[in-house]
Amino acid sequence: MKYIGAHVSASGGVDNAPINANQIGATAFALFTKNQRQWCAKPLEAAVIDRFKKHCEQYGFSSKQILPHDSYLINLGHPDQEQLEKSRMAFLDEMQRCEQLGLTLLNFHPGSHLKQISVDACLNRIAESINLTLDKTSNVVAVIENTAGQGSNLGYQFEHLAAIIDQVEDKSRVGVCIDTCHAFVAGYDLRSEQTCEETFSQFEKIVGFQYLRAMHLNDAKSEFASHVDRHHSLGKGNIGEAAFKYIMRDARIDEIPLILETIDPEIWGQEIAWLKAQADI
Ligand SMILES: [Zn+2]
Ligand SMILES: [Zn+2]
Repeated sequence: MKYIGAHVSASGGVDNAPINANQIGATAFALFTKNQRQWCAKPLEAAVIDRFKKHCEQYGFSSKQILPHDSYLINLGHPDQEQLEKSRMAFLDEMQRCEQLGLTLLNFHPGSHLKQISVDACLNRIAESINLTLDKTSNVVAVIENTAGQGSNLGYQFEHLAAIIDQVEDKSRVGVCIDTCHAFVAGYDLRSEQTCEETFSQFEKIVGFQYLRAMHLNDAKSEFASHVDRHHSLGKGNIGEAAFKYIMRDARIDEIPLILETIDPEIWGQEIAWLKAQADI
């Protein structure tokens, strides 16, 4: 089964997200459980949590179909100890919010070395941050997203993801989310069935499909291997339709949320319908 949706708005309360997802024919969705550009948020109210759970049940979204994304401010590999602590606190809060909402996945960008520490030292910090957070929580899987490799952001090579996972103590609670735009601009070709085959077999060899817990389906406005993160609507960018057809037909990518972060929310419904048609569902 393919679970297909988009990163929908939670404006007015997280309990609106499942309603917004249902309106576009989604069978999965992503959301922010707090303002993604602020450090602090007021705790979730019991009534909002109840409504969120009720709406998810009403529209048929179980926790494996929902992929919350953390704040963009968090850097779990921050070179400065004080800033690292701040990020770790915020990440723990994000994970606890997921637990309160009955959610089991939390998608995040691994972190940046800010040109102050080595790649390996930064990857070690990220893994330590994950271990510390998993120790203080019980149900949520830390889902590391691959990145475009803009600036000093790590996670643009499959080897980075593997190195982090390697150091996480509880392997059952760590996974990855592959963003097609990020992979493509990081130098993993997806423009044909054959290049998809090559990219995914590299993924299998270096990381392993057992860790694939979600995907972000985005075409790319930016060029191949440019390290520039610019999403586009499916089939309108430099990746093209072949990658998305491939993904929809690949059984190794079943039973996980497949999330659009494409640039035109007005056509999300059409994009979801097109993806469903490729998967014959
Ligand atoms: Zn992301
Ligand atoms: Zn993404």
